[in-house]
Amino acid sequence: MYDRLIDFLDKGKARYRLIDHEPEGRTDIVSPMRGNELAAAAKCMVMMVKIGKKEKKFVLGVVPGDAKVDLDAVKALYDGTYISFADADIAEALSGCVPGTVLPFSFNDELELIVDPSLFVHKELFFNAARLDRSMALNTKDYEKLAKPRLESIVASSQKASSKSKRTVKKTDDTELDHLRHSLAHILAQAVLDMFPEAKLGVGPTIENGFYYDFELPRTLIPEDLALLEKKMEKIVSQGQPFVGEKVSTDEAIRRLNDIDQPFKVELVEDLEASGEKEVGFYANLLGDKIMFVDLCRGGHLEHTGKVPKGAFKLIKTSGAYWRGDEKRPMLQRIYGVAFKSKTALNDYLEQLEEAKKRDHRKLGMELDLFQFNDISPGAAFYHPKGAILFNELTSFLRREYRKRDYREVITPLVYDKSLWEQSGHWEHYQENMFVMEVDDREASLKPMNCPSHMIMFKMRTRSYRDLPLRIADFAMLHRNELKGALGGLTRVRKFSMDDCHIFVAEEQLEDEVVNCIDFTKYVYELFGFDFDVVLSTRPEKSMGTDEQWATAESALEKALKKSGLDYELNPGDGAFYGPKIDFRIKDSLKREWQCATVQVDFQMPIRFELEYEGKDGKSHRPVVVHRALLGSLERFIAILTEHFSGAFPFWLAPEQMRVLPLSEKFNDYAQKVRDQLFAAGFRVESDYSDQTLGKKIRDAETTKIPVMLIVGEQEQKDTTITARYYGQREQTTFTVEALLEKYAGSTP
Ligand SMILES: [Zn+2]
Ligand SMILES: [Zn+2]
Repeated sequence: MYDRLIDFLDKGKARYRLIDHEPEGRTDIVSPMRGNELAAAAKCMVMMVKIGKKEKKFVLGVVPGDAKVDLDAVKALYDGTYISFADADIAEALSGCVPGTVLPFSFNDELELIVDPSLFVHKELFFNAARLDRSMALNTKDYEKLAKPRLESIVASSQKASSKSKRTVKKTDDTELDHLRHSLAHILAQAVLDMFPEAKLGVGPTIENGFYYDFELPRTLIPEDLALLEKKMEKIVSQGQPFVGEKVSTDEAIRRLNDIDQPFKVELVEDLEASGEKEVGFYANLLGDKIMFVDLCRGGHLEHTGKVPKGAFKLIKTSGAYWRGDEKRPMLQRIYGVAFKSKTALNDYLEQLEEAKKRDHRKLGMELDLFQFNDISPGAAFYHPKGAILFNELTSFLRREYRKRDYREVITPLVYDKSLWEQSGHWEHYQENMFVMEVDDREASLKPMNCPSHMIMFKMRTRSYRDLPLRIADFAMLHRNELKGALGGLTRVRKFSMDDCHIFVAEEQLEDEVVNCIDFTKYVYELFGFDFDVVLSTRPEKSMGTDEQWATAESALEKALKKSGLDYELNPGDGAFYGPKIDFRIKDSLKREWQCATVQVDFQMPIRFELEYEGKDGKSHRPVVVHRALLGSLERFIAILTEHFSGAFPFWLAPEQMRVLPLSEKFNDYAQKVRDQLFAAGFRVESDYSDQTLGKKIRDAETTKIPVMLIVGEQEQKDTTITARYYGQREQTTFTVEALLEKYAGSTP
């Protein structure tokens, strides 16, 4: 990387000095070593910005010693999905700086050099790639000269990007992309009107990954229509029609919309008028002087239709949708489109969509005989034996970890008198999601969450500081009465279990305990091969608890994150009203994000339930509660795992770990002997005695995604060996059964 930088600087005739030194590793050691005016200021880093699926961008940069890099701003700037550093220590030191102070310039497609402009007061800029044994002093004037064009082009977007990223950490917040999608909705409507001049327009908002538009049409659309509409849209794009906006009074708007016979739009304006609006926006697409299309709209478009990148959108499906979601109103036809900034990005998305369809856990659940649903109990899974193995292996794994980490598992009732829910506040705020029933002439409910029952358990005896931290874990079944229409697969259910735990700590134990939680989470996610993002959410406007409590808790979480060496995003004001929290968002093999683990501090429950413990000082103190789950809902996690591994689970989780495949009937006895031996050793092993050919048996085992196939024939029987073949691979290896047992002993974490 350094060589490329040097090449670039040489071409630009820039003045620089190279400084060789011992590899120092840590920048805080490197900086003082330099003994120059920047000694206290310069910290250096190599960052990798990951863009989309494959693309990577390296950023070599300098930031002042005590300033911080705004990771959100950098991400937004490069449209990156995440940033990682060459060195975790540095990452830790660099999170959260003043947005807009970091300005890059490009010296080739992949590499950017970032310098904080506040460093321009110095004569030379110092660079050091972490853990490299060479630093560079670059003439500041020369840097500026080389960087100038790039700087100018980027300042505007950089500032836009940083103000954007402050508002929210959601990466979908991308104005440019939103304008593209919104403009495409107009273009679609124009194309539809071209095809059906009598079409009536509903609404056409942007959505995740694209846009839709609702229409009342003279006939039902067929799939071929979408291709025709796309052609028409492409034509509109090629014409480069500008978007021209104006504000008109609501009366004028209604008149115009009546003129072009768009009753749904008229209704929208009438509603706006009724809510006090005096003016509405109109946007027209022009071709020369000719008005091609107008739409009622607030604005936020591309400059003209020609700005739509080539091949960057696609119409994907149609569906029915009632006008304004009201089943008493007309049924319209909704056309969905997806759009991205480039053809490549669109293709990546479509590929991912295709792959996601193949991996859909509802589909794989049936194919692999894991679980099924039945209308007799909506939103509750029937786990078949193989699915039950997944569930039980996960909980067994956690139980082993609980033992190591001093968690105490409890078993709790499912039905509770309503007084518990009144005390916890659920009766008032959550009742509609609870399954309420009558018990002993009183109202009661199935528990939708474990917290209140654990508070009760804490209070069942007097507690002392010696009991803390007390980690109460529970896999109890939970029931939430979700709307039937919202149910789907294992991800939206009515009945589920969590790897739930409530940790009761003294306030001063909070930081260490959160470090433990983070460590546990990291261990688990790394085991499954998940990448993850971490978000720290702080005090919202409306909150319970004192300033001091919040300050202590937030700093405990922050310190714990820093100690754990995790890069994290800050989501100010997004904590729960009862305390700050850390959320973990995992990325599966399709780069989809799932919110799973959460570590939430709670001041509220201990007050509501009047929890106390006796401190060292003999006085009574109030504990803090940490709500913590790693996998979250086990049902949902099983869905994620199924899709992440596409049903090819790792050996220790696989419902059927091995299958013995005799070459022919002659070897069935030997196969059975092998199978019994492995079964006795504790493996989940079956054998295939069908009269199929070996090739067919292998294909069957592959379809079932069994990790290890054991082939036995003449030679194997003679030598008392087996020939192993692994899922998705062609190579085969011959082992003695003992060697095989040894290979897989201890494979379960
Ligand atoms: Zn618009
Ligand atoms: Zn809880």
